[in-house]
Amino acid sequence: MIIDFHTHCFPDAVVDRAMARLAPLSGASRPYTDGSGSGLVRAMDTAGVDRSVVLSIATNPRQQSAVNDFSLSLVGHPRLIPFGSVHPDAPDWAPELRRLRDGGIKGIKLHPDYQGFFVNEPRLRPLYETAAALGLITVFHAGVDIGLPDPVHCAPAALAEALPAFGGAHVVAAHFGGYLLWREVLQHLCGKELYFDTATSARKMPPPWAKEILEAHGAQRILLGSDLPWAEPSDEIFFLRQAGADDTELSKILGGNAAKLLNI
Ligand SMILES: [Zn+2]
Repeated sequence: MIIDFHTHCFPDAVVDRAMARLAPLSGASRPYTDGSGSGLVRAMDTAGVDRSVVLSIATNPRQQSAVNDFSLSLVGHPRLIPFGSVHPDAPDWAPELRRLRDGGIKGIKLHPDYQGFFVNEPRLRPLYETAAALGLITVFHAGVDIGLPDPVHCAPAALAEALPAFGGAHVVAAHFGGYLLWREVLQHLCGKELYFDTATSARKMPPPWAKEILEAHGAQRILLGSDLPWAEPSDEIFFLRQAGADDTELSKILGGNAAKLLNI
């Protein structure tokens, strides 16, 4: 089974607006889907992907419940596995985390750049501990966000500082642990208790660097991620082969690790 751990789609009512706003910030030369859930499934069929984790972000506190209503509406979808999101400035992030868990959601995405916090700020600790206690997987956007200026809010050293708050609960750092900061990933994160997804690394990351991270971190803690609609799963799979992942490593990265993590 091939599982893409990093994709996005949007509710039909806002999809055109969302795509128009996000496309110029994505760094992609063109989107690979129309942004809808059905468009995502079509792209998965083309790439031979069985299941995809759909990541959404509450970019402001007011938006939190609407974003999560959409995620909850996808629970039980035969192909899509929705994650939710909370905003650290929303007064009700704690009950919202429980609403997500009780509704069958397996994880959340946090985007420190879009949500205005540094990953290692002490004020985030209660949120991390609550997500961990509820058994939710926490996915962070990690490294540079191509659409936003400095500073980077989730740099590898800062993420390493935040990890103990999770007490061993599952954490995923997107973009091979830190987009465009891969030397720092090797220094601060490789070998630690967290997963990396591979999203948007093809064409940006030298394959030997991916190989180095693969060796230092272990294939059992790497998850295929594309970032559809902004990049394609088949490019990321080709890139992993270029980086020298063998068949045993590939079967873990392309789906084995994610199936265990998601309990499917
Ligand atoms: Zn993404």
